[in-house]
Parts: sequence; structure tokens; C-alpha cells
Amino acid sequence: MEPIVVDVIGGGLAGCEAAWQLARRGVRVRLFEMRPGVPTPAHTTANLAELVCSNSLGSKLPDRATGLLLAELKRLGSLLAASAEKTSVPAGGALAVDRDAFSAEVTRAIAAEPLIEVVRCEVREIPANRPAVIAAGPLASDALAAALQAFTGEENLAFFDAIAPIVQLDSVDMNIAYRASRRDRGEREDGDYINCPLNKEQYFAFVEALAKAETFPLHGFERDDKRFFEGCLAVEVLAKRDPLALRFGPMRGVGLDDPKTGRWPFAAVQLRQDNLADTLYNLVGFQTNLKWPEQERIFRTIPGLENAAFVRFGQMHRNTFVKAPAVLDATLECRKAPGLFLAGQIAGIEGYLGSVGTGLLAGMNAARAVQGLPSQTLPRETMLGALCHYLANAAPAEFQPMKANFGILPPLEKPPKSKRDRYQAYATRALAALDEWQHG
Ligand SMILES: Cc1cc2nc3c(=O)[nH]c(=O)nc-3n(C[C@H](O)[C@H](O)[C@H](O)COP(=O)(O)OP(=O)(O)OC[C@H]3O[C@@H](n4cnc5c(N)ncnc54)[C@H](O)[C@@H]3O)c2cc1C
Repeated sequence: MEPIVVDVIGGGLAGCEAAWQLARRGVRVRLFEMRPGVPTPAHTTANLAELVCSNSLGSKLPDRATGLLLAELKRLGSLLAASAEKTSVPAGGALAVDRDAFSAEVTRAIAAEPLIEVVRCEVREIPANRPAVIAAGPLASDALAAALQAFTGEENLAFFDAIAPIVQLDSVDMNIAYRASRRDRGEREDGDYINCPLNKEQYFAFVEALAKAETFPLHGFERDDKRFFEGCLAVEVLAKRDPLALRFGPMRGVGLDDPKTGRWPFAAVQLRQDNLADTLYNLVGFQTNLKWPEQERIFRTIPGLENAAFVRFGQMHRNTFVKAPAVLDATLECRKAPGLFLAGQIAGIEGYLGSVGTGLLAGMNAARAVQGLPSQTLPRETMLGALCHYLANAAPAEFQPMKANFGILPPLEKPPKSKRDRYQAYATRALAALDEWQHG
């Protein structure tokens, strides 16, 4: 009898992890990736697992939500978590990677796995053979998105997120900008982040310029402000909402002692290392839809960036995802199609690590299906289990993609008073539950 081959659609974060988990369990995989033949609006290479925006996978501190998710993924044998650690760059308490080295590492590992065949073509239909995993991401091709929409019978939602610009380090004026990490959590002695300080006048002039700047025209639902994902708002949207929003958001000066004044600046733009060679830095939290000449004009008014060389400007992108609670179980299996799994952003997850995690569970369960075993859920006390539980159980009408956060975990029996102790208690409970689930 021919061995069963599982099709995984999409060679991104979720799809690569799913394929790897299937292969680890002895299952043959065809991993379909449409790039480079069919491009997306955000990917720029032919590599698998390309990171399209920030090079940070979130906090790696165990008492933070993404740090906990990372710890779980490592225990579950995640290829992408291991690849991220292998290609990490200094970023304080965050796990940031050299994006090219990271995706090259994943591409190499997948290519070297004899049970995985990478097929470079666009999949335009829902796979008829089961089990199968769809992990085509927020920029799933139009044909597949339409097929998924017809298949689920639910209207797909779509909205826009935005990409932050990247500048060359040697174009940053270090007589004005300075290195510092908040709460001294940096790996470099002189601080992992470069901070461009703004005084009160400079800050308000900057915010006013942002609010008045020309943006790319939006069409149809793109104009509907409610469709912006609240966690990824463009800087100009924040500036228009409230002149102080940026100062309490991505431009917080708190904890960033300026060596020239010995004080925190009124506000600051933070730059984070983007490549291992330490030549490129991204503007942290500076997703934007401003026209590119406007970005150059306005971002060069930031002290220290007067002569900044931009290697990439910010831009907007589409995001496609299913209404997960109407479609999926917490096993990530489609309710109406046993053996068909969704993973990653298209399943209603937000964030790199959540995409990796759902890829891991979908791959694991697809392998179980091949072996004739029922799908499994993870304990709800774990961050990954809680995310999947949320997908299956959130209110369908208001459903929005969810990223790792402590708010989705079941409450603690005796919650400690301090936030730090509480988060620590969540993390300890989660890892104990995972341990019990794996080995108990
Ligand atoms: C522009 C942008 C910026 C983002 N910024 C961040 C960020 O800074 N931080 C963060 O945590 N998250 C961010 N996200 C959200 C999300 O975490 C990432 O998109 C993440 O890559 C999602 O992983 P995924 O595996 O679901 O999709 P992807 O990594 O996008 O992988 C999907 C893959 O499927 C392929 N594909 C699509 N359709 C087909 C088809 N029909 N046939 C074959 N292959 C197909 C695509 O080419 C792609 O390689 C961003 C998303 C976008 C789009």
C-alpha cells in the first residue's frame, strides 16, 4: 500500500512547523509554497518561513506571555523556536533574529528532511485528500482565500496591518541618539536599543506632522477604522486619535536615561537591531501607511535620524483569517471536515510564535489522524492550549485574531497580588501542566 502523504499548504511559519512535526512522526509531507512563482505583497524572498515585518518574536522572559509560549514550544520540540535561538541577535529581553539567517536555517532544515517534499506552486483549492493542513497565512492567495470562504460558508474578514521602516545604522547620528535598554535587560553592556530622544516641542511638532501627512489611498473596507488590528495600529492613526497616544505607546521615554541629560526624554523613538551583521535597525512600533516620500521627510525630523538612509519603508498589508469559533475545534481541526486542519494567522492567530505554535499542534494532530488516533488538545493552562481554546470558543460575531497573553489563561486559584508574581505563577502552572500532559 502506498504510504499516506499529508499536504501542507503554505511554507511560512505555521506550515514549516506543521510539516516538521509530521515528518518527526514518520509521516511523508508535501509542503506547498507558491513563492517565488506567485509573490505576496509582503514577502521579498523565496525562502521558507520568511519574517515579513519585525525581526522580534517577542519576549523570551519566562514570566511574559510570548516568553511562556516560547518555553512551551521548546519543550514540544519546535523546529522554528530552535532556529530562532540559533540565529538570534541582541535585543534585551526579546528574542529577535537575523531574519535572513532565520529563514535560511528553516529552509535548510526542511530541505534536508527526507520525508518532506517542497512543491513550489500555488494551491487554488481546498485539498481533497485528508489529513491536510492549510497554513497559507494572512496573505493567502486570492484563489485559495475564495475557496476557503466558499468552503467554510462564513465570510472571511480582512483588515490591514502595517510594516515598520528599517534604517542603516551608519546613517544614524550617534551624537544625538544613544544606546539604552529599559529596565537594564539588555545583552549589550551599552544597551540593545538605540534611542532617539525628543523634547516636548519636538514631540508635538512630530505628532502634528504625522497627523497631517499624506497616506496611501485606502479602498473599501480598508477605510473602515474598526478593521485595523488594535495591536498593530499605524503611527499616523495613533497620532490622529490622540496627540499623547504615541508618548504612552511606542514612543515612551520611560526608563531610557539620556547620558547627556541624565534624565528620561519626553519621548523617544527606539531602533532595534534587525540583522546579525548589526548594520540595519528597525523603528520599533512604527508601522505606517504614509507615502514613502512623506516617511522620509517626517521620520528625518526625528533627532538622530536627520540623515537616515531607509532600506525599507513602512507599508500596509492585507490580513485574511477565518472566523475561528464558527469553523475550528481547539484541536485546530475543521468541525465540518475531519482531517482538515488550519494553522497560523489564517486560523485566527496573531503573531509569529502563535503561528508557529498552531502549526505545531496542527502537524501533531494531522500525524495522529494518519495513525488513526483522535486529535488532541493541549491543557488550557498552557499558553498554546489557551490560544487554541480561544479560537474554538470566542464569540464568533466579534472575533478578532488573538495573540499570546495572560488574559486568556484560566484564572489562578490564589492569584498573587503583584503582577510579576502572578505572571510567574501562570508560567509555573502552565509548564507543570505541559509536563504532566507530555510525560504524566
Ligand atoms: C506584512 C505583515 C507584517 C506582520 N508583522 C508581524 C510582526 O511584526 N510580528 C508578528 O508577530 N506578526 C506579524 N505579522 C502577523 C503574522 O505573525 C505573520 O504574518 C506570520 O508570518 C504568520 O505566519 P503564517 O505561517 O500564518 O503565514 P506566513 O508566514 O505568511 O506563511 C504563509 C505562506 O503561505 C504561502 N501561500 C499563500 N497562499 C498560498 C497558496 N495558495 N499556495 C501555496 N502557498 C501559499 C505564502 O507565500 C507564505 O509563504 C505580520 C503579518 C503581515 C502580513
